[in-house]
Amino acid sequence: MPDTRIYLSPPDVGDLERKLLLEAFDSNWVAPVGPDLDAFEAQVAELIGVRHAVALSSGTAALHLALVAAGVRHGDTVLVPSFTFAATANAVMYLGARPVFIDSTADSWNVDPALVVEELRRRCAKGKPPRAVIAVDMYGQCADYGPLLDACDRYGVALIEDAAEALGASYRQKPAGSFGLAGILSFNGNKIITTGGGGMLVTDDDRTAARTRHLATQAREPLPYYEHRAVGYNYRLSNLLAAVGRGQLQRLGSMIAARRETGRYYRAALGDLPGLSFMPIAGYGESNWWLTCLLVDAERFGASRDRILERLATHDIEARPTWKPMHLQPVFSDCVRRGGDVSAGLFRRGLCLPSGSALSDHDRERVVDVVRAVAAEQKG
Ligand SMILES: *Cc1c(COP(=O)(O)O)cnc(C)c1O
Repeated sequence: MPDTRIYLSPPDVGDLERKLLLEAFDSNWVAPVGPDLDAFEAQVAELIGVRHAVALSSGTAALHLALVAAGVRHGDTVLVPSFTFAATANAVMYLGARPVFIDSTADSWNVDPALVVEELRRRCAKGKPPRAVIAVDMYGQCADYGPLLDACDRYGVALIEDAAEALGASYRQKPAGSFGLAGILSFNGNKIITTGGGGMLVTDDDRTAARTRHLATQAREPLPYYEHRAVGYNYRLSNLLAAVGRGQLQRLGSMIAARRETGRYYRAALGDLPGLSFMPIAGYGESNWWLTCLLVDAERFGASRDRILERLATHDIEARPTWKPMHLQPVFSDCVRRGGDVSAGLFRRGLCLPSGSALSDHDRERVVDVVRAVAAEQKG
């Protein structure tokens, strides 16, 4: 059988998801709400240990409504990690607020708490506190919430946790998604679990949960006629997709185990090559191993990150550079930033390897063989 294309992080769905989806379909609970949506929310809330979960059409929608709940308005500033996916910063822009981009720490690739503390101090001293701080759990590894929460509490600024990539991870035994005013999750096709597209806002705060539910359903007042006292959104997840999510959630443990095994395999099989270094594992928590990423020191490895990417592509293997920081994006070029060299370096040298939970042993070997062949060529 010829080798098939290897994707970076494709959906991993099967008989269980198919069965639950068809049951939802046959029950005629197609949309908008229904028993699968309620059950999916209850199960995620229990897993994360929070009182409320509101299922939404995407992680980006969840970020948008989390920022609304934090009171973010036109002209406000929000501290955002520079090293993230654009959705984190876009949600700030939707509200007419301005992101201030904060650099990462090389220890975990997450936002540098010292820079966040310093920026909060500076802005609060001027009497212009940011309205919120967003922390992102990068590639499935939590940010350092101890110092981040201390600082946000001290200055009375809301923290929002972008846990889009981190369902199933934890920080000091506390689940990802449970930190700050609200956490957000993504069930996009490439994430650790997928509904084919979807997201969730999770929170302990009763008001935030109620407000989010209300705004996500067009801000319709509970009256017999259509009454609206706020501008709402059409952001609710469909019951059909929630049925798929219920199936995925049952398999979360084994899917994390599969990704962890892949991560360990890459580390063992490539760790001896000079010039390669894997994303550091922070001692404060457990990653969900969403993607295995590494840095390529071109001089010591003998070839650049881009050369490895090209060779993988030639072998029909999808790999990607790590995120391009927001402070280097043309669309955000006029935004303020603090630091920037760490995240710029991660982008220049970083590589994400295929990490899907259904990746076979054979496919993992194919990836390793290509990377080792590039290294061998340079020596030869
Ligand atoms: C995927 C992702 C999002 C957006 O989630 P969607 O469900 O695709 O809208 C937001 N933040 C981060 C860090 C992500 O990786």
